[in-house]
Amino acid sequence: MAWFFGKKQQEPELVEPPLQFVRPGAPIPQLNPFLYVHARMIVLNALAARADVVRVTFTGQKAQVQYQIDGVYHNREVLAGQTGAGIVAIYKLFAGFDLKKRVPQQEGAFEIHHLQNRIPCRVEDKLVKGAEILSLYLDTGKPRPQKLTEMGLDEERAEQLKAAMEEPGVVLVTAPPHLGYSTVFNAVVRLIDRYMRDVVMVQSVHDREEEVENAAPTTFDPDKGETPATVIPELLLRYPNVICVRKVADKETMALLLEQPEKERLVVTGLLARDDTEALYRAMALCDEPQKLLSQLKAVVGHRVLRKLCEQCKHPYPPPPQLLQQLGIPQGKIRAFFKPGPPRLPPEEIERMQKEGIPIVCPQCQGIGYLGQTGLFELLMFNDQVRQLFQRPTQDLDAVRQALRKLGHRTPLDEGILLAAKGITSIQEVSRVLKV
Ligand SMILES: [Zn+2]
Repeated sequence: MAWFFGKKQQEPELVEPPLQFVRPGAPIPQLNPFLYVHARMIVLNALAARADVVRVTFTGQKAQVQYQIDGVYHNREVLAGQTGAGIVAIYKLFAGFDLKKRVPQQEGAFEIHHLQNRIPCRVEDKLVKGAEILSLYLDTGKPRPQKLTEMGLDEERAEQLKAAMEEPGVVLVTAPPHLGYSTVFNAVVRLIDRYMRDVVMVQSVHDREEEVENAAPTTFDPDKGETPATVIPELLLRYPNVICVRKVADKETMALLLEQPEKERLVVTGLLARDDTEALYRAMALCDEPQKLLSQLKAVVGHRVLRKLCEQCKHPYPPPPQLLQQLGIPQGKIRAFFKPGPPRLPPEEIERMQKEGIPIVCPQCQGIGYLGQTGLFELLMFNDQVRQLFQRPTQDLDAVRQALRKLGHRTPLDEGILLAAKGITSIQEVSRVLKV
């Protein structure tokens, strides 16, 4: 296929980036060499910036390129209309899309060969309010955390949860959409001794989750009107000790799950929500007998992902009294919070950079101020006092949260302030993640 967009671009020379796109089994399409170099440079820069996703939002007049780094999108270059269209078309062509079709959503994949690495790249294209959003998901093989303690939960609480899961009952997992729900769900399942106990896992055929060793998934197909309840009866014939349902969204499944603790089984399930309190009320709304759920609950595990401050360029500052007041922290309790600042570089290095016109940014985080991620856990262990709080239906979830706090329960905000006081993250990041 001939592939050319208008006249050649006014670019002085073509430097081949050390990176190729490959669609296994498909011939290499004929491409405008300038656009192809540009399309690859965008991905090369994304990899250098530790990005997991490249997103191009194309509106016809222009295309905005963004990189997702540690879960946050950062604006990068803006491409003029024709260049943007050409580059988007190159990604789509390698992903095997039909360029003539304008369907609401297409998915495909290709490989990126970069030096010695082969990086699988999933491509998703959708139309949102007249804009075309193309996302390249770069699977660079970054190890995902496996254990709750690697995700920010302290040993003591991890042990507490593990002990509770040795008995029959229900454990609910929750996280906001797209933010590491499956990683935390898997880590909770990993607390179970899967060699001593028979663990079954139920998930949708559309779930692309990493598998937990010794908990092979059984799938149901929502497109055929199936739910977890479609496959659970057959799984029960195996007399499992633990039933894990990745997400519970219907009453029939919930009812079936609530029968299991009476048969000495543990149930691990969950749903997407902002925090434990919201998750619990949502789960109760799926029950004909919410009391049954309350009586069987062992714990609710809530998780939020946040970015860690870059060690190289974080700086302490005394917390403004007004902020402390706002957060409900007594004066003098916290000596310092931390925030990103200028990089700590030797003066001669700064002088050299100034002379050579190099922007003075932190080499460690490339000026973002954050590097890597950790988690905020909200672990709600159930006892009679906690159960009591959820007895009556309510619209005022904040009142329930306050009551939990009085019982000594640490809310996500309390956890966030603790991390900020330790200098692991900034109070700005806590407020971004918790929207407070
Ligand atoms: Zn830095």
